[in-house]
Amino acid sequence: MKEVYQQMKKKHEEIWDKCVAVIKDNIPYQSFKTWFEPIVPIRLENNILTIQVPSQFFYEWLEEHYIHLLKKTIKKELGTAGRLEYSIIMEKPSYENPNTITVNYPTTNKKNVDNKPVIMPLDLTNGNGKTREIPNPFIIPGLKKLKVESQLVESYSFDNFVEGDCNRLARSAGWAVAENPGKTAFNPMLIYSNVGLGKTHLAHAIGLQVKNNFPDKIVLYVQTEQFINQYIDSVRNNNHNDFVHFYQMIDVLILDDVQFIAGKEKTQDVFFHIFNHLHQNNKQIILTSDKPPVELKGMEPRLLSRFKWGLAADLQPPDLETRIAILQKKLYADGITMPNEVVEYLAYNITTNIREMEGALISILAQASLNKKAITLDLAKQMIDKFVKNTTREISIDYIQKVICDYFGISVDLINSKTRKREIVQARQMAMFFSKKHTKNSLASIGLQCGNKDHATVLHACRTVNNLMETDRQFKAHIEEIDKKLRF
Ligand code: ADP
Ligand code: MG
Repeated sequence: MKEVYQQMKKKHEEIWDKCVAVIKDNIPYQSFKTWFEPIVPIRLENNILTIQVPSQFFYEWLEEHYIHLLKKTIKKELGTAGRLEYSIIMEKPSYENPNTITVNYPTTNKKNVDNKPVIMPLDLTNGNGKTREIPNPFIIPGLKKLKVESQLVESYSFDNFVEGDCNRLARSAGWAVAENPGKTAFNPMLIYSNVGLGKTHLAHAIGLQVKNNFPDKIVLYVQTEQFINQYIDSVRNNNHNDFVHFYQMIDVLILDDVQFIAGKEKTQDVFFHIFNHLHQNNKQIILTSDKPPVELKGMEPRLLSRFKWGLAADLQPPDLETRIAILQKKLYADGITMPNEVVEYLAYNITTNIREMEGALISILAQASLNKKAITLDLAKQMIDKFVKNTTREISIDYIQKVICDYFGISVDLINSKTRKREIVQARQMAMFFSKKHTKNSLASIGLQCGNKDHATVLHACRTVNNLMETDRQFKAHIEEIDKKLRF
């Protein structure tokens, strides 16, 4: 009996080890360490492999980022009938008896009151519902009831969109559009802003609200790149007319990041016709863009003039209160609590991009959850330092020289002197190499600032460093370490 048990025990570990070996080869080491090392295989029964993950957040992260990889490896090891089950440890874990919660797959993660292990059928035969591509847009003509996958993301709702001075106009115009799609003056409605300020979120919110108000209306969210690719495919496959017809049947068309259409004359042309048709028939068009219409370059004037027919509303960076409210909403939605001082610290330090602020929040949660640390101000500070430095600090040639000189314990003057001592020459070459890599300076200007050399010397230095990296492991290790110092 004991032996059988031993065997069974071995089996799940063996299978998981094999999965892990494949996964390791397919993702960066750091990600592997963060997201896969903490997983403990628990059992294998009826082709269901159960793995234990440290938290709900952890599970969601795996689902969001590694689902395809997991699917593939499970399929490889267990065949198409293989399934994966997650067991999630609740806060205050007790390893003898981990509390677990159930997560419904594939959509939302509702908590199950029974606290049973999570059954997650990994559907290995069909694609899961998560890939948000339009299945086949060209099936429609002749069909009475058109079924279009709207591609809307449920969580990007109005409920989750925090109102502030920064977005009041766009938000209320969006709300009005959703109450009366195609029938307000806001047609088209163009939402513009810098990245990470909520254009995509608001566009989805409008789409979702239309679906709420008018379930029969056909709403389609499409990224401009997707639109362009579909158009190109349709030309290649000789069904360009089907493509146009499909889009002409939509009641509310949301085209995200319309700036990508710039310079694409054929796509603009076809969009112009679709636009006219929809507009004439009182169908709603919603566009987002990273610039106001006047600044959109490479856009045909006739199309641009159409964009100006309706309302162009911008989203501004949110003020501190709104940033705090956004973070709090997000925490609340995820059922997480965090000390106020940490939330405020985050909101205070990341000011221009909501996506980055959310990114920092996720990093803190990940750190806390993985290392079972409390979420403290100190932890937040460490994370923010990484985040903010990473994203905003400009690396200058001076800085590069300083880091390299510190690393080798030589003085910056030496690097810029005429000396031909081997270590100094090599440090100088590294400085040139990193300046080329991390700054926008020309070769000539790098040469000038690194010991008054010409551009050919810089080019030679870059080649030498590259060659040495291929042949000399020790050298390569130095380069990698310096690179890390430069970036963090
Ligand atoms: P954009 O399309 O402008 O680059 P997104 O719509 O992708 O920006 O927004 C970036 C992130 O910020 C998303 O996760 C989004 O949910 C969040 N966000 C932006 N604005 C708000 C807001 N007003 N309330 C809540 N979350 C917001
Ligand atoms: Mg966007």
